[in-house]
Amino acid sequence: MARSLPKIILKNGREKSLLRRHPWVFSGAIERVDGAPASGDTVDIVDSAGKFVARAAFSPSSQIRARVWTFDAAEPVDAAFLRRRLARAVDSRRKLGMLGAGAACRLVFGESDGLPGLIVDRYADFVVCQFLAAGAERWREELADLLMEISAPRGVYERSEASARRKEGLTSRRGTLRGSEPPAELEVDVGAARWIVDIVSGQKTGAYLDQQRNRTRVADFAAGGEVLDAFSYTGGFAVAALLRGAASATLVESSAEALRIAEREAAANGLTDRCRFVAASVFDELREQREAGRRYDLVVLDPPKFVHSADQVNAGSRGYKDVNMLGLQLVRSGGVLATFSCSGHVDAALFQKIVAGAALDARRDAQIIERLSQPADHPIAIEFPEAEYLKGLILRVH
Ligand code: SAH
Repeated sequence: MARSLPKIILKNGREKSLLRRHPWVFSGAIERVDGAPASGDTVDIVDSAGKFVARAAFSPSSQIRARVWTFDAAEPVDAAFLRRRLARAVDSRRKLGMLGAGAACRLVFGESDGLPGLIVDRYADFVVCQFLAAGAERWREELADLLMEISAPRGVYERSEASARRKEGLTSRRGTLRGSEPPAELEVDVGAARWIVDIVSGQKTGAYLDQQRNRTRVADFAAGGEVLDAFSYTGGFAVAALLRGAASATLVESSAEALRIAEREAAANGLTDRCRFVAASVFDELREQREAGRRYDLVVLDPPKFVHSADQVNAGSRGYKDVNMLGLQLVRSGGVLATFSCSGHVDAALFQKIVAGAALDARRDAQIIERLSQPADHPIAIEFPEAEYLKGLILRVH
């Protein structure tokens, strides 16, 4: 079987990262390609002496020319292989108690779950997939069947729209893959909260599952206080804070559609009269509120990714510093700032440095009282540090 596969022959010495089980083969490491693999086809990766190193999916358009499926020469890549990997990923979430009937969690987190380029999120009885690399795309039909079999949802929906697809030479696609069409507004249980998720036209796969646990951690600091939820999307942090006894919450978000869902979500949770919805840019709105002397007991900053590549780190750092300075200035003395970055290129040490610079400029004393990261359904494979992207600080501010 293995003998018949096309081959990628690496340059001398370029197998090192693969021997450490890092799953990416960059174009610069490749000496030549034998055979004529099409996009997404399975290829064997061999070292310059012809020795097997890994079996991978070929991505002819991407700088990441191949993504490893397996390091085991005896393991074929077929539906049975995908079933084993999917079952392992789902089982790990089951063991974490994340598969309650009406609950939501990430079932598959790409490379970290041994399924490069595949994202699968479960919202109650629907699953949503993103096929973000040529290999995942090649196995799309099989993966959709397997998800029906393993997860038994009412439907499998595709939201393959991330910019990552462009780098793989793939176009955007959205629609029902199996089973029924999801409703425009799906209700999901998140602890004590009811969430409203728009799988079809919401951001990402409909929600930001990566902040699910952090919302309850941050809500611990909310009781009795006034809360500012900046970059609120549908108000996950605000709803969690209000359910933990916050007096009021102001949501600031530039997307009108997101705020419309936030309003419905507040109503579904009986919180409408404690919420204020502001459709505006956080930068403008926070500056205005600062000038107007408005202050809060808890400020949450959860901006979108400011840094998409290594060459954007400087510009993005300025964005983080600006918004954190504004956030710090809006905290009442003795209050709390919860601040996040989801840019993988800004690591935890740099993020802390940026926030320290912001505190200096804002002339506020701040202490880290808790560090936050990504939850267990967004695991970081030990040999794949690129999977780590979300970091947060909870600061006491004086
Ligand atoms: N805190 C949210 C997730 C935030 S994602 C949650 O817990 O679900 C970042 C959000 O910021 C997106 O909803 C995006 O629409 C919004 N956004 C991006 N730029 C913005 C800006 N300049 N001002 C206000 N909102 C912005």
